Amino acid sequence: MSPTRVKCPTCKRELDWQTAPFRPFCSERCRLIDLGAWLSERHAIPGEAAPGEERSAPAEERPQKGST
Ligand SMILES: [Zn+2]
Repeated sequence: MSPTRVKCPTCKRELDWQTAPFRPFCSERCRLIDLGAWLSERHAIPGEAAPGEERSAPAEERPQKGST
């Protein structure tokens, strides 16, 4: 019986898949780090496709600019 070796996506440390409680991460810390990086990465993406935004008002209803 050979243990499955996997690498922690965060710190690249090898760990045993069978015994790692936070797999595929080596520790809870690495798991949180990866989660945080993933979230901040998504958050940093500018102008991502976000259907249903509040910018769907027809052009006719927009107030005229500069002619008040
Ligand atoms: Zn790690």
